[in-house]
Amino acid sequence: GSTVGILGGGQLGRMMALAAARLGLKCHIYDPDPMAPAGQVCDQITTAPYDDKSALEAFAQSVDVVTYEFENIPTDALDLIEAIRPIRPNRRALATSQDRLTEKTFLNELGLKTAPFAVIDSAGDLESALATTGTPAILKTRRFGYDGKGQARVMTTADGDAAYASLKGAPAIAEGFVEFSCEISVIGARSLDGSVVCFDPGMNAHSEGILRRTTVPAPLPNALRTDAVLLAGRILNALDYVGVIGVELFVTPTGLVVNEIAPRVHNSGHWTQNGCAICQFEQHIRAVAGWPLGDGQRHSDVEMINLIGDDIGDLPRHQNDPSSAIHLYGKAETRPGRKMGHVNRIVAPKG
Ligand code: ATP
Ligand code: MG
Ligand code: MG
Repeated sequence: GSTVGILGGGQLGRMMALAAARLGLKCHIYDPDPMAPAGQVCDQITTAPYDDKSALEAFAQSVDVVTYEFENIPTDALDLIEAIRPIRPNRRALATSQDRLTEKTFLNELGLKTAPFAVIDSAGDLESALATTGTPAILKTRRFGYDGKGQARVMTTADGDAAYASLKGAPAIAEGFVEFSCEISVIGARSLDGSVVCFDPGMNAHSEGILRRTTVPAPLPNALRTDAVLLAGRILNALDYVGVIGVELFVTPTGLVVNEIAPRVHNSGHWTQNGCAICQFEQHIRAVAGWPLGDGQRHSDVEMINLIGDDIGDLPRHQNDPSSAIHLYGKAETRPGRKMGHVNRIVAPKG
């Protein structure tokens, strides 16, 4: 059998490792944290920093293919690994999504709509950037942001300086605020031979920049559902992508606007674990291991509820709901904003 190497041992790495085990594949996780959630369920874990050249080399040599569960892997580590084993999804997919400027430029070049945006390299760029985007706007660091971190809202140009100061000089962009009726995402997959399978779009509810809930089916006209899936397929093809991708979209009166892409399994795809025969984690492992993709058909209407921080206190209620599948990440310590687990509540057979 072959071995899949996974950079990052958080909950996404953990659920990939569980899927790999079901497929009879071995998993080797790389994560500096010995308490990483994936460490409890994988065959092997290397707990070394991402700049430990000999550890990275030994890791790469011990596996057949390398994938990842987060975007912010240092370039040097990737260079070293890529000289030894294939990285899937490829470096271009990763580089494109690591930087909001490259990401939006790529999407626009594909003919896909994004929020209006402008680069801010220093405080002097703020005024002209906000003139481009209009207000309200959101300032975002170009790199390293997740769960709404590294963002500041600008209601009027008068708020601009304070908002920019909160980003502490990091290279940033301004984005015009998109008036959306709802947020949806498409979880898509592409295999080594270029086949594409997408899951049904889900509707996402965020609060404080963090995903709280995903509902499938999203309440969308069929035409938009098709647009969403076709658009995800175009992104996958353009990047010669192998693996699962998450595409976050705003639904607006003038059509779909792409918010961002994540070159990995995605929190808004967790419903697939209990809504489809083959979930996003199995689909991802199949793709990166060079297997054919599975069927992405949905068999149930599902509501995915994230358990964030103290939400874990609701566990007894979920335990007492016989239609809720429970997924906990094995994190010992509860912290505000920390994703502790999720619940997939089966609402009904597919309507
Ligand atoms: P993730 O954890 O999904 O990677 P992130 O930190 O990269 O999150 P975004 O997805 O850019 O953050 O933004 C988080 C949320 O903030 C979005 O899902 C959306 O609700 C809101 N948001 C972001 N950008 C805009 C925008 N231009 N217009 C309107 N709302 C926005
Ligand atoms: Mg993001
Ligand atoms: Mg997002």
